[in-house]
Amino acid sequence: MKVHPLLKALSNETNLQILALLRSGSFHPRELARILQKDETDVSRRLKRLEKLGIVEGRWVRVGDRNVKVYSLRAGEIKLELRPGEIMVQMGEEKSEETLLKPRGAPHVENFVGRKEELALLSSSKGIVVIYGMAGIGKTSLAARAFPSARWYSFTGLEDLYYLAWQLGLFFNSLGWSELTEYLRSGGREEGDVFELVRAGLEATGSTFVLDDLHKCGDERVYRMLSYLAGRMEEGRIVVTTRVKPNLGTEGVTYLQLRGLKPEEAYELARLKGKNIKPEEFAGLYELTLGHPLALNLLVESQIREKRQENLFDFLFGEVYKELSEDERLMLSILGLFDEPVEYEGLKSLYGKKNAFSVLYSLLRRGLVERKGDRYSIHELLRGFVREVSNVDGGQYYSRYSDYLARKESPADFLRAMKYAIASGDRERVRKLVTLRVRKMKQVVTDFPKAYLRVLSPLSEEPAVKLEMGMVYFQRGLFEKAKRLWLEVESKLEGFLRGEVESLLVDVCIELGEMECAGEKLKALKVIAEELDYPYTWLSYHIERTKYEFYRDNLQEALESALRELEIVKELGDVEGEPLVLLHIGDIYSEMEERERAAEYYTQALKLAKAYGMKFLEHTSYMELAKAYYGMGRYGKAVESATRAVDYFRRIRNYRRAVDSIAYRCVSLIALERLDEAEEDAKELIRMAHSTGYPLGWSGYIFLGAIRELRGENGSEYFAAAREHLRGNEWLYEAVLEELEKARPGLKVNKSAEKKKRGDEEIPLS
Ligand code: ADP
Repeated sequence: MKVHPLLKALSNETNLQILALLRSGSFHPRELARILQKDETDVSRRLKRLEKLGIVEGRWVRVGDRNVKVYSLRAGEIKLELRPGEIMVQMGEEKSEETLLKPRGAPHVENFVGRKEELALLSSSKGIVVIYGMAGIGKTSLAARAFPSARWYSFTGLEDLYYLAWQLGLFFNSLGWSELTEYLRSGGREEGDVFELVRAGLEATGSTFVLDDLHKCGDERVYRMLSYLAGRMEEGRIVVTTRVKPNLGTEGVTYLQLRGLKPEEAYELARLKGKNIKPEEFAGLYELTLGHPLALNLLVESQIREKRQENLFDFLFGEVYKELSEDERLMLSILGLFDEPVEYEGLKSLYGKKNAFSVLYSLLRRGLVERKGDRYSIHELLRGFVREVSNVDGGQYYSRYSDYLARKESPADFLRAMKYAIASGDRERVRKLVTLRVRKMKQVVTDFPKAYLRVLSPLSEEPAVKLEMGMVYFQRGLFEKAKRLWLEVESKLEGFLRGEVESLLVDVCIELGEMECAGEKLKALKVIAEELDYPYTWLSYHIERTKYEFYRDNLQEALESALRELEIVKELGDVEGEPLVLLHIGDIYSEMEERERAAEYYTQALKLAKAYGMKFLEHTSYMELAKAYYGMGRYGKAVESATRAVDYFRRIRNYRRAVDSIAYRCVSLIALERLDEAEEDAKELIRMAHSTGYPLGWSGYIFLGAIRELRGENGSEYFAAAREHLRGNEWLYEAVLEELEKARPGLKVNKSAEKKKRGDEEIPLS
């Protein structure tokens, strides 16, 4: 039973009508045709297909003196089960599984010859495999042949470590392993964590991932990651193709330098391409190319039998080019404009004629065009030539391709859309894309800052581009730098983007503690919001106003503004915004010490975040709820919520939030007299403080001291240790003690300095 054809058959209305009729018994095709008012041959054909797929069965029965075939259903039920990356179909007793997600981006290999030894070496390799050699020598084809089910990623020079990590994460996700994407989605950006999660993902899924054209990658962190992975993998594998041999160490890395095909392999290639060349004649041709497969391909396509010019490729390609039709040349010229593979859909619309498929196919067959997944490209060695001879207007194609990519509304495609908008030289288009990014694709800046900066850099004097560059700096905490850029473009931008820059200025001024400047910019933003009257700009205004009033301790005003925010996000249907605003409102109520109201809003945020699958906001809500319950003295509920938060934040390695949540859980446990559990938490806090240096972690010592005291023992050594570690953070020490005294009134805590310091190593930590 084949799953795909089965699903296709089931999505056809006539087939469904036939199946519905067969539910009531056996039928002869003619009878079915009569009922359905269809042609009998058509119905017969369909029945045969359905029979082949195993949904119906045909039986011969004797009617009078004739044998006739009647059909009936084989099973009344078909069960589909979606699994990660796979679909399972069960019909009666029969089960069938099929991989749903085909390896993406893998090149198409046809007419592959030779390379037996290389293939043997690759199939027995583990860990990291590096295939290096000159352009066109066959690295990509070899990797595709050796690892047909690998996931493929081809570098374009745009990407950075995090961009790549997302690609890896999405791939692992499709195989049912989601830790890396969860980590990235929650904003995790520690290089070491990413390396480790990539390793774990490759190991857990036992998969092979190909990094094609690594020499184009400009982010040295990617190389560091590969060195890290080398020697640490048992099950997974990373295959690298590159022109330049990278130094990734020796342990766990297999290096393979690729050279030309052997004469007999080259001859086989020529024969496979249907050329009848005598072996003696071929020997001369082989000398010309030294078995370079791309050159050989061109040579067999052309009528040339000897070399007459310096640049072999231009020369050979020139000869082949002469023979091409106008349409083929146009297609090549379009592909020549792009230094990365172009999707079939996009290419079709750029080319604009009906025969796109047959033209591409003919070019593919001649070896002039290559296919990776559903994307097409021209080999780099030939691109230069095509660019020289073609006279297509690049700007127009870049603009159109940029529009095509922007419509996809995914961050990765957005980056490419921006790249081509900038290449087209059309600034209006660039501004439109910035608007799109601001409104719908915030994550581009947080997820791919380096890559985005790189894309923007060619047009760095454009005000809209400066606004974006400021965003990247702001995200990195370079507030002064961001502010300078924004002040510079403030008067040069208009309309929506002017509103955006004012709101960013409010933000950055608050961040820098310059409240007067923040107030001024807030006023400017209000004027623009009134002028434009766009809901989005009003939303920006209220978001900034809430922050501004909150920081100035005008809680009532902040609350008013936050409630306006809530109305607008609801109006806009802003899925991500709503739980976030709800959390902010909860925070304001918390600050007002109205804990019941706060908990109400946190609970609403929790429900929404859960419904939308936003894990980070969901668990942030749990964390805030834990604090609110703790504040109300509902310690049991606090422990429950904190536990959810702790588990999640630990898993995604957000130790700051994990420590926060554990601290609240620990005091709550102490309040509940669940001292053994509290002790575990206290030790965990100390462990985390040791590894992250996060000060709240040292409160673990205070808790240990309190636990001792509550057990009637002496905890003073622990208090001393806490004071020691919290030197410079005395306020924190005092604040934690205060909380403890609130949680356990009557708890006697020895505040006086304890002379004897208890060393860390004496603390019984596992
Ligand atoms: P590289 O990745 O080293 O630049 P490619 O793998 O793209 O090289 O190969 C260049 C061209 O040569 C492609 O058109 C490919 O089809 C052809 N080619 C490479 N290796 C072989 C082979 N072993 N058999 C047949 N064709 C090959």
